[in-house]
Amino acid sequence: MRLGLAANRLHHLGADAALFRWLDACEAGIRELGLELHAVGRTYDAIAAAGRLGGHPGLRRYPYGREGGLMKLVAEVAGPDDPARALDGAIYLIDPVDPSSVFPEALALKRQCVIHGKPFVSTMAGARDWIEVERLHAGLAPDPGADDLHALERQTLALIAHDAMKPQMLAFAAEHFDLLSRFARRVATGTTGQRLNELAWSRGWPQDREWAQRYRSGPMGGDAQIADLVLERRCRRAIFFEDPHVARQHEADIQLLERAVTTVTFDAMCMTSPAMARRWAEAAARRANPETRNGRRTDA
Ligand code: PGA
Repeated sequence: MRLGLAANRLHHLGADAALFRWLDACEAGIRELGLELHAVGRTYDAIAAAGRLGGHPGLRRYPYGREGGLMKLVAEVAGPDDPARALDGAIYLIDPVDPSSVFPEALALKRQCVIHGKPFVSTMAGARDWIEVERLHAGLAPDPGADDLHALERQTLALIAHDAMKPQMLAFAAEHFDLLSRFARRVATGTTGQRLNELAWSRGWPQDREWAQRYRSGPMGGDAQIADLVLERRCRRAIFFEDPHVARQHEADIQLLERAVTTVTFDAMCMTSPAMARRWAEAAARRANPETRNGRRTDA
């Protein structure tokens, strides 16, 4: 597996920065997985200066941002001429008040990941989570350090889908209904929540209870309401199926929610496509059920 890696300045400045907190938690996992990391110049330099990932053959240096490093990662997500450079996703630790985080190449990196169904991870918590997801898919034993991330019974999950993506959200929720029902609480934007509740009721969820608590519809401020829950650390995980192919009248609200997630980088994470959410859900289900941890039941 090959991931692009970039971190805004705040996130690689100082030993306590998000990039290093991620490496503290995940360096062993990165090595176990033999993960290839294509790191843009300054991020690579910070890793090297801190003496991290020493000797890891998968760490590759890309040009500085101002020399097109991030732009190259976008092409590698979309599909480079040389298949050996193709990225399976990207980790971009975003500082939402860093101007470079909204440069076109930064927005395009996420958009191309969404379009191609590849993980786009924007926070330290998300990056921590993703290494565990990949470890579980590789059949490795759960890392106790990630137990907290998988304590779904203590978390709130936000579910949002743009109109063209609502059928995929319903299919995802139907497929992983038991897993999603483990969360302490589910919240959703208005129309998405209504559809999800109807699905839950049809599956025997008590008729007098909402499966997902509904906020306003996205264009009427639902994204902003959910962003506030994230900022207050009352919602750690969002599954947001964005439609990348249409102009969205409430683009500012969508960005607001994503920026809220990156504002609390150590706590919150967002999954932006059905493929990404499915990969996470399959890993989370395996983690909860040791019998299926290697992808199949081991009934004696
Ligand atoms: P909705 O909002 O669930 O009310 O459709 C989602 C959105 O469009 O952001």
